[in-house]
Amino acid sequence: MKTKERYVFLECTVCKERNYTTHKRLKAAYKLEKKKHCRRCRTHTPHREKKL
Ligand SMILES: [Zn+2]
Repeated sequence: MKTKERYVFLECTVCKERNYTTHKRLKAAYKLEKKKHCRRCRTHTPHREKKL
């Protein structure tokens, strides 16, 4: 059985810069949110997924 995955952006919740791409399973109900380093904010900020 294949697991379908799709690519999503990880967008900085502070400045809205799209800093990262990642992928997750299609049927995943949760929203990805990760602490990542943002170049524009020059610090670690929460990044939330956005569809490509
Ligand atoms: Zn930022």
